[in-house]
Amino acid sequence: MRIILFGPPGAGKGTQARLLEEREGYTQISTGDIIRSAMKNETPVGKEAKAYVEKGELVPDSVVRKLAEGAIADEGYDDFVLDGYPRTTQQAEWLTEFGAAHDAPIDVVISLEVPDDVIVDRLSKRRVHTKTGDTYHLEHNPPPDDVDPAHIIQRDDDKPATVRNRLAVYREETAPLEAYYEARGTLVTVDGVGGIEDIYDRITAALEAA
Ligand code: AMP
Repeated sequence: MRIILFGPPGAGKGTQARLLEEREGYTQISTGDIIRSAMKNETPVGKEAKAYVEKGELVPDSVVRKLAEGAIADEGYDDFVLDGYPRTTQQAEWLTEFGAAHDAPIDVVISLEVPDDVIVDRLSKRRVHTKTGDTYHLEHNPPPDDVDPAHIIQRDDDKPATVRNRLAVYREETAPLEAYYEARGTLVTVDGVGGIEDIYDRITAALEAA
């Protein structure tokens, strides 16, 4: 199955995509993770992306398109969960064309619905493990005692000023994609508020019904 996990930053896309990978065997394709790794390794893409990511802006469509399409091709065009792609109408249209060209259309778009106040709380208290990429929430899912605190950091773009910009960019550029997928008959909305396991159960139920 080809799945998109859709929603604002902090909706839980990454957390749920990782669970779907661990438990159901889908491959998580996160353009954000690919970009962060490119930035860390100072590749040409990483250097180009850096200024955008640090401001909470979107990286240019043409750059992200190559990363996403390359990752989908690497997975044999099936059994993946896209997390953080597409984020603009242009990206969605390219993805539809790419799917048609490879006989690999997106089967279902799970939209995680989370109100703004919950998002701001989640992002401001989100912490990430520098080596494993595991994410934590300082209150609801704190890093376990055996994890070295030196490896637990806050993403620069999770700091308040950047979060506000990311939410504004989401509303302006990304939120309209709900209507795009609704019109294509692939959109399913899922309540993204609650415990990680409860939300996971809602997602797997939605996938079974799709
Ligand atoms: P994420 O980890 O998904 O929140 O992504 C982190 C940052 O990477 C975003 O704020 C953007 O700057 C960039 N990024 C990730 N995915 C995309 C995308 N599909 N289009 C444009 N920029 C992206």
